[in-house]
Amino acid sequence: MKFISTRGKGSVTGAEAVVRGIAEDGGLYVPECFPPVTGEEFEAMLGMDYPERAALVLKKYFEEYDGEKLLSALRSAYQKFEGDDPAPLVRIDEGLYLLELFHGPTCAFKDMALTVFPYLLKEGCALTGVKEKLLIPVATSGDTGKAALEGFAGTDVKIAVFYPEEGISKMQKLQMCTQDGDNVDVVGVRGNFDDCQTAVKKIFSSEACVSAFKERGYLLSAANSINFGRLAPQICYYFSAYCDLVTSGQVKMGEKVDFAVPTGNFGNILAAYYAKRMGLPVNKLVCASNKNNVLTEFWRTGIYETKRPFFRTMSPSMDILVSSNLERLIFELAGRDAKLTKERMAQLASTGRYTVKGEELKNFKSEFYAGCTSEDDTVDCIYEFFTEYGYPLDTHTGVAMHVVEAYHDRLKKEFLEKPPMVVVCTASPYKFPQDVLYALTGNDVKDSFKGVKRINLLTAMKVPDPIKAVRYKPIRFKTVVSPDKIFDELLKFIKE
Ligand SMILES: *Cc1c(COP(=O)(O)O)cnc(C)c1O
Repeated sequence: MKFISTRGKGSVTGAEAVVRGIAEDGGLYVPECFPPVTGEEFEAMLGMDYPERAALVLKKYFEEYDGEKLLSALRSAYQKFEGDDPAPLVRIDEGLYLLELFHGPTCAFKDMALTVFPYLLKEGCALTGVKEKLLIPVATSGDTGKAALEGFAGTDVKIAVFYPEEGISKMQKLQMCTQDGDNVDVVGVRGNFDDCQTAVKKIFSSEACVSAFKERGYLLSAANSINFGRLAPQICYYFSAYCDLVTSGQVKMGEKVDFAVPTGNFGNILAAYYAKRMGLPVNKLVCASNKNNVLTEFWRTGIYETKRPFFRTMSPSMDILVSSNLERLIFELAGRDAKLTKERMAQLASTGRYTVKGEELKNFKSEFYAGCTSEDDTVDCIYEFFTEYGYPLDTHTGVAMHVVEAYHDRLKKEFLEKPPMVVVCTASPYKFPQDVLYALTGNDVKDSFKGVKRINLLTAMKVPDPIKAVRYKPIRFKTVVSPDKIFDELLKFIKE
């Protein structure tokens, strides 16, 4: 399988796409076509465990990787998860399911990809003959950073994480700032996630920066979801969830289902769209946003407008105005027109907006339902869901669940049938203990671990081991810089 840039330049292998992260012309790598999962393969997948299912899907994109090594890498990655199944599907009610993706080492869905990604990258370097040491700067809205740190800690890759100093939960900050490993750095940035992401992207596209690292023996790579190696492992759980629906007799093979995804950088839901393009029977993808509703507005009006107020919410991993991966969808729905995509991205960079009209906008609306919630509605939704089903949703999944309710109301109004719905749970409620406790009880606690304890008493949901472990670890990282100092921080880091 070859990969091309959304902005038109070049064609590379899967291994190269993973190692480079971002295309030379600033575009994102996309597969040259969507490899179908055949009926036979799908049937076979039903009898497989999660790593085997994932290997089947990944091998289609990473043909040059050794199949057996890939499978064993997947096995050891998912051994780091609590429980036998890294992505269990929970039946909540008739036609309503939760896909729990938070049983990994950092308690968010980012682990699904970032436990496998180091292997994809290392093997990619071997396959492409890259000899330099790797340096990975990561901009994070809270969860990617920790998952990337865990994935790479103790390897020979240098990884530096930049998080918005005021924009993440206390627990997320604790998780990152107590990270072990000599090859890691964690730095707070004065600004929001978009400031972090823009500053990091600038380093990638600056020749001066790239060659400064090169002189020192380092090659830059990316672990954000702009890297196809991050995206690919996320396609797998949509197939696996569907297999579980079939094997448990909830749906018949071929019957269409809906997926709802709490969305920020548009990586997770894009992976669902890729799964659909590979043949997964999907009806609609529900794109859920919090108060930062740039995507909802885009779907409604066709105007992507980033010049708007930025809100800090209790679902911080979705506090994003520039959703990088939307570029990949824009490219697909413009009929893979790289020139047009390039123009739009140039417009976005210079004016902060671009527009989609007519047939094209219709396509967006027929594939996706987009909705958003206020903070109050999310709180109410988490409370009501708990009262009804005894299940504590995290704040991000709470956003998705509320949008699902609105979506179902609309189906009812239009006398449309309601397909089975799978809501993707992106984080453990214990990762956002204060806000979740507030939603469940109305009580504010200052201490994260008090929140953890109270949620545990209230819900009997097991506290994940990684959350317990954080409590007694020393804080190792305290540096805070402004966005324009990120490059200097990186230089300092590789000198150490
Ligand atoms: C990253 C994240 C999201 C958003 O996912 P995207 O792939 O960026 O759209 C949602 N919820 C949680 C808990 C996350 O960590």
